[in-house]
Amino acid sequence: MRRAWLAELWIIAGLFAAAAAAGYYTGGLLWWVTGAGALYAALNVRNAARQLKWLGGGLDGPPPDAFGLWAEVSHRFYQARREAREAAREAAERVEQHERSMQALPDGVVLLDANQQIRWSNTAAQRLIGLQEPDDRGQHIDNLLRHPDFTEYRRRGDLEQFIQIPSPTTPDNVVMVGMVPFSAGEFLLVCRDVTERVRIDRVRRDFLSNVSHELRTPITVLGGYLEILQDAAEADDLPSRWKRPVDAMHDQATRMRHLVEDLLLLSRMESLGHPDSREEIEIDLLAAQVQEEAVALSGEREHRIELEVQSGTRVSGSVSEFRAVFSNLVRNAVQYTPAGGRIRIEWRVDEEAAWFVVEDEGEGIESQHLSRLTERFYRVDEGRSREEGGTGLGLAIVKHALVHYDGRLEIESEPGRGSRFACRFPRDIMLEPAPAPASPVPPAPRVEGAGAAC
Ligand code: ADP
Repeated sequence: MRRAWLAELWIIAGLFAAAAAAGYYTGGLLWWVTGAGALYAALNVRNAARQLKWLGGGLDGPPPDAFGLWAEVSHRFYQARREAREAAREAAERVEQHERSMQALPDGVVLLDANQQIRWSNTAAQRLIGLQEPDDRGQHIDNLLRHPDFTEYRRRGDLEQFIQIPSPTTPDNVVMVGMVPFSAGEFLLVCRDVTERVRIDRVRRDFLSNVSHELRTPITVLGGYLEILQDAAEADDLPSRWKRPVDAMHDQATRMRHLVEDLLLLSRMESLGHPDSREEIEIDLLAAQVQEEAVALSGEREHRIELEVQSGTRVSGSVSEFRAVFSNLVRNAVQYTPAGGRIRIEWRVDEEAAWFVVEDEGEGIESQHLSRLTERFYRVDEGRSREEGGTGLGLAIVKHALVHYDGRLEIESEPGRGSRFACRFPRDIMLEPAPAPASPVPPAPRVEGAGAAC
């Protein structure tokens, strides 16, 4: 820039010096100097006009010939235009590269704007959910993905949990869809073909359920005969050396029967995906029954089993599923709490949810196990669980039953101090009139320690 100014000054100085010299030798200095000024002005006007013409033409072509400051101005414009074009080319290349990589994805991706209208979709999305590019651009996603589960998923707004729906293009196929927020209210709708996974899952479930069905009758028959043999041993109709083996066989047959029953229950819950019936359940009654069962199970161990129920709650659901949830948690508390320990069973309703809580003063669970407790056959201490007659399926059943009601299980525990298993049910499972929120009943004191939500 400094050089341009210097050049300009040299031009002015040269022009006026030449005019002064000519005026000096020829007389009429004023005329010569005025002429030089006019010439300088005319040259500037010509340069400005060329410059304007070039700018008006969108800076196309090489910059016009100019000198001094005007040459610098053209050069600057020319350079800025080159840089802008280079940046635009790079940006377009990047966009194209992103688009190509999105197109190469096996999963469907749909870009939704803040109004959830389609801005772009890749070929996998077009294949999986039947979108058309570019015809569907600007359409609201609800107009094209009309499955009620998807509408409900969007309404709920709990976007983290993806859902499975039949593919709109091939209804025999299953697609998993979900929405991921990314910037300023925009969303990526992601979808994946999970037909094969769902099929394998179904085969596994059917296999388990068939095996359990097939085993049920022989185990019942064996158990029945073993009971007859036990009675015979009691009546001294059997040699005394048979008493222990018969008792052991009977115990194992009972264990197998429980295992088969739990497997059948679990596979039925899994395949249904919703409550197996909708009945009116009186929580007071059910909780009292479960408490009685717990007292019976505790027997000589004489646990202190307390029940605190916010009375008057009636819920809509499957009695067998609610019973499975309540009794599995209470049975575990009895099994894993030393004799004489305190067990507290609570039902309460607050402004957000209804809670079924079982707290014990048992052995507790170390934090690294908490998130895995609801896996099938996951046991902290396998020997202990078998000794207590556990099947390793109780908490898996609880978790699956809760899923049917959009509920969840929260576990807190501290080794040596005890555990707290809390089932959170949404308030909409309650039949009107729902009881007032439980502010007068203080919430159960929390077990200090690690926690997990399942
Ligand atoms: P199980 O039939 O073995 O009790 P569950 O699925 O009901 O199977 O429980 C899984 C594991 O979680 C149990 O084996 C036990 O280790 C642990 N557990 C469950 N409830 C409690 C509890 N109240 N206190 C301590 N440990 C528990």
